[in-house]
Amino acid sequence: MRGIYVHVPFCVRKCSYCDFYSVVGGEEAREEFRALLSVEMDLLLREFPGEGDAEADTVYFGGGTPTVLGPDRLCGLLEEIRARFPVAESAEVTVEANPGTVSGKDFACLAAGGFTRLSLGVQSFQPRILATLGRIHSAEEILPAYRDAREAGFASVGIDLIFGNPGQGEEDWISDLERAVTLLPDHLSAYALSPEPGTPIHAAIEEGGLALPSEDALAGMYSAARETLAAAGYLHYEISNFALPGERCRHNMKYWRREGYLGLGPSAHGLLFPPSAPLGLRTENPPSLRDYKAALRSGRLPWSEIRNRDREDAWKEALIFGLRTAEGISPGTLSEKYGPPPEEVREAVENLVASGALLREADRILLPEGYWFVSNEILRRFA
Ligand code: SF4
Repeated sequence: MRGIYVHVPFCVRKCSYCDFYSVVGGEEAREEFRALLSVEMDLLLREFPGEGDAEADTVYFGGGTPTVLGPDRLCGLLEEIRARFPVAESAEVTVEANPGTVSGKDFACLAAGGFTRLSLGVQSFQPRILATLGRIHSAEEILPAYRDAREAGFASVGIDLIFGNPGQGEEDWISDLERAVTLLPDHLSAYALSPEPGTPIHAAIEEGGLALPSEDALAGMYSAARETLAAAGYLHYEISNFALPGERCRHNMKYWRREGYLGLGPSAHGLLFPPSAPLGLRTENPPSLRDYKAALRSGRLPWSEIRNRDREDAWKEALIFGLRTAEGISPGTLSEKYGPPPEEVREAVENLVASGALLREADRILLPEGYWFVSNEILRRFA
């Protein structure tokens, strides 16, 4: 079973910290995007007919702000995907949405049209932090949006939060966590703010107009998330993700388990396993609607990068992604899929196990939870 990811490259306005590819666009651009996605799927099936046979059990519309397209276009796109690729009856079909941009009626249309899971970009409940992040929604819009989503009948509703914001203290963060938990979401993501160069928030920090919390304060916030959410019954199943039992995001698990997924839309990434690349073919679409469109209009797949993975790449990727999760990786299973680990990889794993930075448990290798906050330091050894 594989996944299908669709990157919808439109937002109402750009948030101050965002470096995902998205533009404001207008009705015409949105309608054209819908048509381009169909062309992309048809070209993919022409070049890789085998992709039309593998069943998908997850579909994820991310972005950008997918709901900018409106429920009718989104449901229409889902139908177009189903018309080309087999999608399991029980598939998890996720759409990301922002509070204040979708009405209760729209949520109901999405749920009736086959979307089963909603990921709500709350980020914070505090007006001051929402303003710093440049979010378009107000704190007052969160609760009604959440209630509307619940009433619409999605099987699963998740909330995204950001911590480590300029001017945010641990108390502020705990207050956000507690307010989130009172809503009883099925899933909760807690990402540390990462101000990327080129974003307004990064410029403001560089110029001294905003200051980030210290590393110690960030570590405290991460621990607070772990404790608050564990006490509320959430399982910490990936470095930045928490879920009630049985509510892990099945689509994102595919990334961490290095399973196959199609990446459609500008800036989308994919991982295919065609017969010509049994260890994986990584695809990347250009982060530009213009380039995406130009490629498709000239009858080419819009891939700006294609990398055929070898045994070493496959092992390293499996470790980098798999060790982010509580389940870790199984060297036995990876050996069956990719062949034995290259010597350099085997040695790096053994050294990390010997130093205590990795843990061997039965047939699995895990990153001990105490190291999750500094996971990048450890995982970069496999980069
Ligand atoms: S809504 Fe999401 S994708 Fe759009 S600008 Fe804000 S953070 Fe970026």
